[in-house]
Amino acid sequence: MKQISQKIKIEPNNIQKTYLNKCFGCKRFAYNWGVEQYNENIKKGMFKNGYDLKKQFNSLKREKFPFVYDVTKYATQQPFIHLNKAIKDTLKKGGKPIELAFKKKSNNESFYIGGDQIKIVTKPHSNKQYIKIPLLDKPIKLTEKIKYDGKILSCTISHIYSIYFVSFTFAISEEELLNKKAKLAIFKEKALGIDLGVKSALTLSVPFSIHLPEGIKRESKKLIKLSRQLDRKIHPRTKGDQTKKSKNYLKASFRLAKKHLRILNMKTDFIEKVSSVIVKNFDFICMEDLNVKGMLKNHHLARAISEVSFYKLKEKIHSKCDMVGKYFLSADRFFASTKICSNCGNYNSQIKLSDRKFICDNCNITIDRDFNAAINLYNYLIKKVGRVTAEFTLADLTALIKDFDVNRLSTSKVETRNQHNFYINL
Ligand SMILES: [Zn+2]
Repeated sequence: MKQISQKIKIEPNNIQKTYLNKCFGCKRFAYNWGVEQYNENIKKGMFKNGYDLKKQFNSLKREKFPFVYDVTKYATQQPFIHLNKAIKDTLKKGGKPIELAFKKKSNNESFYIGGDQIKIVTKPHSNKQYIKIPLLDKPIKLTEKIKYDGKILSCTISHIYSIYFVSFTFAISEEELLNKKAKLAIFKEKALGIDLGVKSALTLSVPFSIHLPEGIKRESKKLIKLSRQLDRKIHPRTKGDQTKKSKNYLKASFRLAKKHLRILNMKTDFIEKVSSVIVKNFDFICMEDLNVKGMLKNHHLARAISEVSFYKLKEKIHSKCDMVGKYFLSADRFFASTKICSNCGNYNSQIKLSDRKFICDNCNITIDRDFNAAINLYNYLIKKVGRVTAEFTLADLTALIKDFDVNRLSTSKVETRNQHNFYINL
């Protein structure tokens, strides 16, 4: 049995929206209640984990927080699991319990429901699918069909502003998995190193790079404009401000939500397609370890990262590799793929983020920085796997480019190709 998930947009009516918003609120309330208790406990020198706090909450809720009975029990149970994890994480770092932060209300929240409490209903005349969740009379409409036959283990309902989604987790059988495998035909054994960067989103160790679709950049600019417009509309600006949200504010917030969604969809589309083509064409794949937190401290990189969502891309490639039985390797965090010369192995600590070209003092080659890193990752992979892989021929490259073209991804054959030849001629 394997787990697989599918995210679908849902269309709740107003009553259902109110209910879902209540669920988000109750989840946040339960979590923050737990945080408050935890913080007070450690001030007193006591320690209770998330499960103890959950018991305490459950014994109090009937009397003190009767409103939690208006929503599914999962909305107030799951947060304590998250809380327990958060407590564990803080203990890992310092060893001493430290105070936790409260969760703020945001435009992007979610809650979990176990598979035992949900049901999929198909209306016979229209053949449309609906999801039935506890304490709601009418089921909520799904905008897409469910792709998998497997048992639904759980679902997570989330929203971005006023657009709602459900993400199902299915347990699927080996048989269904085999069908998926057949779709991703396996070629010859080929290895690939992938470097993620600012200039082009992905640089492959075969002389080839993939750029971010122009559309994402364009829409991101529009998003900034829309959020400025939203801020100008009448709405409460501080906590306790009695100003009502104006009609124009609500309209503008809907426009903003739609834009957010559009960008999200474009990114998801990009990630799905790129990962499919890569996993289809290669059997051994190596990517660098993404210390995203460390990378986000650097502002130049931060924008590019949030635009591409490297983390998601890596996860996707990894999970697709696992699914079809291909080999995925994440390079060691301390493997300096950008600082080593891919030709002679000389270590150049002088190279800065702003340098687009890698120049080696030892063997004097000049090579695109990202391409250099991709080749280093490739070499790293070959060392780890320890087996000879088939050479990537020009015909293979043509096929690969064709695959990308079919998927309408913005790509380029870049100068790296010439550099590659030059590099090989050395
Ligand atoms: Zn060198």
